[in-house]
Amino acid sequence: MASAEENAGRAVYTLADLRDWPTATAHARPPLRLAVIGDPVAHSVSPPMHNAALAAGGIDAGYTRLHIRPDELAAAFRLITRAGFIGVNLTLPHKVAALSLLDAVDLHAATLGAINTVRVNANGRLEGFNTDGPGFERAVRADFDADLRDLRVLVLGAGGGAGRALAAQCALAGCPRLVLVNRTVEKARALAETLRSRRASQTEILALAWDAAALAAALPETDLVVNASSIGLKPGDGSPLAGLAIPPRLLVFDTVYRTDHAPTPLVVAARHGGARAAGGMSMLLHQGALAFEHWFARPAPLELMRQALARPPS
Ligand code: NDP
Repeated sequence: MASAEENAGRAVYTLADLRDWPTATAHARPPLRLAVIGDPVAHSVSPPMHNAALAAGGIDAGYTRLHIRPDELAAAFRLITRAGFIGVNLTLPHKVAALSLLDAVDLHAATLGAINTVRVNANGRLEGFNTDGPGFERAVRADFDADLRDLRVLVLGAGGGAGRALAAQCALAGCPRLVLVNRTVEKARALAETLRSRRASQTEILALAWDAAALAAALPETDLVVNASSIGLKPGDGSPLAGLAIPPRLLVFDTVYRTDHAPTPLVVAARHGGARAAGGMSMLLHQGALAFEHWFARPAPLELMRQALARPPS
């Protein structure tokens, strides 16, 4: 069956389309009522994953991409109710800005400081959630059969949007030790302060500059290293742990993923050192499944969504 976007003939819509959604999407079957909003967004692999779930659930809705710039986000939010949307996902660079633009934000998203899922409720009001942090927690459980609350975690790139959400999830889960590492160390320090003040947690929270000596000293006290930096995204990038010995007992989770499913340099380096390593596709899958559950209040067809992600991009 052709996807909704193929039927519509276009893979990416804009704010101008949202202003007259019935006309812009007149040929789309099923009607487009969900989307990922980003800038850029053409590369997103969320549509095939969600369209597989919608079709399997017999839900008369398709999922597409909306290219919305930062200064257009408020207008887009005002239009999606009128356009008949069930909800949207948010990706770069909108996750933090969305916090102040919604009618309601659940406590978890407010604590994480970012939104990646919006639901249009029965009164047309917009409710915000974050499924990146919980999706990461589920991915760690699925990939390593381990719980965050039992792991000493080191987050590389803790100052970025993903890093902040993952670090907050670790603190919420009550992991015993959380080391926040960021190139711009002030961001890691500020996040450590925020997490310490928001939660009476037993988690020991430290902030470190990103330097080889500090990382080498921290690794023996770490069970799980998470790369939430963008190192590994660009072709030619090396491993963010280059030059460091990776202990075989370490668990390594790279939030970066490749749409061709090739392992990232960090995953390659970790496996080479005998460690267990996983890439970011499983986090993408679980955050998507949790978004589906917010929209439809029923379990997501996880295996179908996994298979859709595993297909090569068309
Ligand atoms: P941001 O732009 O918000 O943050 C980027 C982070 O990477 C910052 O901490 C930044 O440090 C750091 N960084 C960038 N370049 C370097 C470098 N050369 N050396 C050291 N640190 C560097 O991006 P996001 O947080 O949204 O995304 C980060 C990663 O997470 C991406 O690779 C993305 O693919 C992945 N991701 C995966 C998801 C999934 O479902 N698997 C979901 C969301 C994100 P500084 O603060 O100093 O600039």
